[in-house]
Amino acid sequence: MGKCFVCGKHGLFLKVDDQRRCKECAEDAEKEEVAIFETYYANLLHYLRDLQILVEVGDDPIRALEYIPKFENKIEECETLRAEIHNPKHEERLMKKLINSITYQDDFSKRYGIGKLEELEISVIADSVTKKFSTEKIFLDL
Ligand SMILES: [Zn+2]
Repeated sequence: MGKCFVCGKHGLFLKVDDQRRCKECAEDAEKEEVAIFETYYANLLHYLRDLQILVEVGDDPIRALEYIPKFENKIEECETLRAEIHNPKHEERLMKKLINSITYQDDFSKRYGIGKLEELEISVIADSVTKKFSTEKIFLDL
């Protein structure tokens, strides 16, 4: 007899998955995970956009001191983003989403694995030997 660990439903023919959830509970959990991921991804995108805004600098050496905190701030943002990209909770889903959204300018780019992540405004290049996009390589490009 199967028994769902989440809702408690049980029955002779009730099938549960490897986490002892019935089909409905597993689907609900999946929907929730997707929603959490979408929020995470939206935040990531927002953060990246913010980071891509350039710090304007002039030639006045005295005023240059004012820019230091701005750069320090960018470095800090960069570190946060780097950590978030490697969030183990989302890493796999993020990778799938990124690989699926790679676009190519033309046949040449496609053949040589020179792609673009439009949403992130980042170019990504496939491994020169395998012609595939690996997790490590995409994260490196990011
Ligand atoms: Zn259930």
